Amino acid sequence: MEETKTELIKRRKTKNFKIGPVGIGHEFPVSIQSMTNTDTRDIDATLKQIRKLAEEGCEIIRVAVPDQEAAEALSSIVGSSPLPVVADIHFDYKLALTAIKNGVQGLRINPGNIGAQWKVREVVKAALDKKTPIRIGVNSGSLEKSILDKYGGVTPEAMVESALKHVDILEKQGFSLIKVSLKASLVPLMIEAYRLFAQKTDYPLHLGVTEAGLVNQGTIKSAVGIGTLLAEGIGDTIRVSLTGDPLPEIKVAREILKTLGLRKQGVEIISCPTCGRCRIDLAKIAAQVEERTRDLPMPLKIAVMGCAVNGPGEAREADLGIAGGDGEGIIFVKGVVKRKVPEDMLVQALWEEIAEISEKGEKE
Ligand code: SF4
Repeated sequence: MEETKTELIKRRKTKNFKIGPVGIGHEFPVSIQSMTNTDTRDIDATLKQIRKLAEEGCEIIRVAVPDQEAAEALSSIVGSSPLPVVADIHFDYKLALTAIKNGVQGLRINPGNIGAQWKVREVVKAALDKKTPIRIGVNSGSLEKSILDKYGGVTPEAMVESALKHVDILEKQGFSLIKVSLKASLVPLMIEAYRLFAQKTDYPLHLGVTEAGLVNQGTIKSAVGIGTLLAEGIGDTIRVSLTGDPLPEIKVAREILKTLGLRKQGVEIISCPTCGRCRIDLAKIAAQVEERTRDLPMPLKIAVMGCAVNGPGEAREADLGIAGGDGEGIIFVKGVVKRKVPEDMLVQALWEEIAEISEKGEKE
């Protein structure tokens, strides 16, 4: 494992603004979003889910606003939500106006779908007055017919043209608090659409693979799609879309950001794949370390390596770690061996070293 001293990912320069307290754009960390799947009219259930997502590490929450009752419920939801709330609205300008009036910190609406010009003007004027950012959300499954005809179907260029049309409508009214998403369930399509759009504007981008699927497939699709773009410096907020309970989305999103070194909170475990040199039950130990350190807030790289010959060397980037021997193992901190303990004491011994690091405040 190579030690690196430089920032490898250079974020694309974007406009910067805030959604509630959360900064959006290259001057701020890439943020994690999710969406409630409760009935927004059920205020208690929606707030309960938002709180759980916030505890897990979600930073911006989107709620569906399908009707006026849901738009009215936003007043209570926004008032009690620990996270800034983005109202997800399709077509109906009245819902957008009610959402803005009720204090949402962001809107997701495509201005080209609102209809009459005067309706668009009213929504944009209200958003301007309250400085409410708008996300334009282009989805490969719902492109305008004229664009589909022009490009002969769904292409990255078609998605970008659709997004630019919506952007143009907002810009003509002097509105620039814009972020854009170009989601598709086909990963190469969404990657190329985002790349193309990123070359043409400096608006921040919200990344996502839509209809990614259940946890296993959705995690991989999102990691590849979102991860590829983030590695190229493209993307300012992300949402991992998984079918079902939204809570696992946050864990996956955090792992993607941690993997790329874009967010550093929490523990990252580096564990070796094991080979013929390994004489301890490494998979069990790694699982125990993961379980034990799951809720640690401090940024810490922990190595769990199968052997002492190569382990500490291979894991020199780690803050501390375990390297196995025959029925025993060593605990090393910053590459230096601290203790040798029996196999069944390794996790506890590691935990004691973590407590010591935590107490000393050696980590920022
Ligand atoms: Fe094999 Fe040791 Fe490397 Fe693990 S750390 S893969 S056991 S050589």
